[in-house]
Amino acid sequence: MGDSKRALVVNPDSCVGCMTCMLRCSYKFTGTYCPAMAAVIISNPEGDSGMFAVLFSEKCDGCGLCAAFCLYGGITRTGEGG
Ligand code: SF4
Ligand code: SF4
Repeated sequence: MGDSKRALVVNPDSCVGCMTCMLRCSYKFTGTYCPAMAAVIISNPEGDSGMFAVLFSEKCDGCGLCAAFCLYGGITRTGEGG
């Protein structure tokens, strides 16, 4: 589809669990930094192993903001040509 959505690429091995993506996403939707309101969810299914899972809820509109603010490459985006 040729709309403004960008494809998000998740790289869980690079995620450090900083939650910046959740904070920025929640601010987009609510105007506050409330991770529980984010469309991106960082979970730590492996307990203390340092491994994180990067998931998206149905609320995600593909805006790419989370990828833009991820400093570690846990979320990147494609289709930035426009
Ligand atoms: S995906 Fe990026 S911004 Fe989000 S928690 Fe992982 S390292 Fe942080
Ligand atoms: S793409 Fe946009 S709406 Fe989806 S999780 Fe990232 S910041 Fe939130």
